[in-house]
Amino acid sequence: KKIGLHEIRKEFFDFFREKEHLVAPSFSLVPQNDKSLLLIGAGMAPLKKYFTGEQTPPNKRMATCQKCIRTGDIDNVGKTDRHATFFEMLGNFSFGDYFKKEATAWAWEFLTERMEIDKEDLWVTIYLEDDEAFEIWNKEVGVPSERIVRLGKEDNFWELEVGPSGPCSEIYVDRGEKHGCGSPNCKPGCECDRFIEVWNLVFTQFDKDENGVYHPLPNPNIDTGMGLERITCVMEETKTIFDTEAVKEIRRKVEEIAKVIYGNDPKKDISIRVITDHSRAMTFLVSDGVLPSNEGRGYVLRRLIRRAARHGKLLGIEEAFLSQVVDVVINSWQIEYSELKTREDQIKKIIKAEEDKFQETIHQGISILEEYINEMKLSNETILSGEKAFKLYDTYGFPLDLTKEILEEKNLKVDEEEFNINMEEQRNRARKARDEGDSGWSTGSDQDIFKGLDTIFRGYEKTNIVAEIT
Ligand code: ATP
Ligand code: MG
Ligand code: MG
Ligand code: MG
Repeated sequence: KKIGLHEIRKEFFDFFREKEHLVAPSFSLVPQNDKSLLLIGAGMAPLKKYFTGEQTPPNKRMATCQKCIRTGDIDNVGKTDRHATFFEMLGNFSFGDYFKKEATAWAWEFLTERMEIDKEDLWVTIYLEDDEAFEIWNKEVGVPSERIVRLGKEDNFWELEVGPSGPCSEIYVDRGEKHGCGSPNCKPGCECDRFIEVWNLVFTQFDKDENGVYHPLPNPNIDTGMGLERITCVMEETKTIFDTEAVKEIRRKVEEIAKVIYGNDPKKDISIRVITDHSRAMTFLVSDGVLPSNEGRGYVLRRLIRRAARHGKLLGIEEAFLSQVVDVVINSWQIEYSELKTREDQIKKIIKAEEDKFQETIHQGISILEEYINEMKLSNETILSGEKAFKLYDTYGFPLDLTKEILEEKNLKVDEEEFNINMEEQRNRARKARDEGDSGWSTGSDQDIFKGLDTIFRGYEKTNIVAEIT
């Protein structure tokens, strides 16, 4: 079936609306009233209070398409076919309403009937002790046992320190040997990209206490997450999530600016995909009120912008260019996120300013780091002193991670401990110099720049069930 990213989002909403779900627009990437998280990385994160029972949900069944940032995946971006730091997660949720049976049956129905994916290409994984899930998949849904894989806790059990937890079941699409690692043992859960995980169903049926004891919940919950880019990649049969029609528009812009043809040089292709991804991430972060800084969310943003700028240099782009790429992101994604358009000027201005700042020193910084690397090679050292890394940070604006990354490309490391000592000393000096220790970043200031523009449920007017959300 031929269907693109924005249409899939819509079909997902329609499908779950038919199943009596309240469809709510994405929450901000910046967690609201939740100090435990830096950024939202899953559809369930902003709904946590409904799962714990701290708050009553507006409806027992909800569905969202949530903007997500996962900096933990940053090193995979551009290298695997399936990882981005920014992506949209489709999800349906049950707060003590329906459970395993419905969640599995509906996921299957959506994939095989609405998306018309061939049943033979679908595999599922379950938590190894979850016989109930096996029975449902096998007997009720009709998945042959050869295509149900039992995996351990690391893969298929969702939990935090305490609170709601439970087994998961993931749905994979077999994209065929051409995407695989070639190993005869290749199956779902393999690190290669043949079996691509599209949907994770979490069956939160336990409440874990301080002693690690799991108490069955009287009204278990359902939390699911499906990567919109991944399902699009499957539907469009593209190699990576960056080759899907919607995302490709961004990629093409990068190619155009860099005057590089995609697909000729694997290293350059990685840089192109990194810039494509990071441009999306930075656009949405700034749109949600995050400003570049040296700490917290601001640091995540700064790192993404500078990392993208550096990959631009690797492609031979001389001038500041990110706002041109951001332009494509805004124009394509305003369909769903109209605030991108209303905040367009601010978004571009903030990103441009950060890129310009880095632009002034990046060349110098890179050549100094190269000098350091040469010195290290000559003296057979493999660890860059923390003091030097700090100088790069302090004088040339190199986030530590960027220095680390460039060194890692040459199998070298940095003395992070020493770096941190230098950092701490500088902080102390700065603190002394000011009466009040304001680092320039605080939860408040991050969220305040678009004060009044962010509502928890964005775009009330868009859904017709809005009256129910209060
Ligand atoms: P993987 O094993 O491929 O890294 P995951 O198990 O870490 O994925 P989940 O935490 O289960 O992912 O998230 C739910 C869904 O979100 C996944 O099934 C996938 O479709 C999507 N997803 C997760 N991480 C990413 C990412 N970095 N980029 C794009 N989509 C993602
Ligand atoms: Mg992952
Ligand atoms: Mg996984
Ligand atoms: Mg998963």
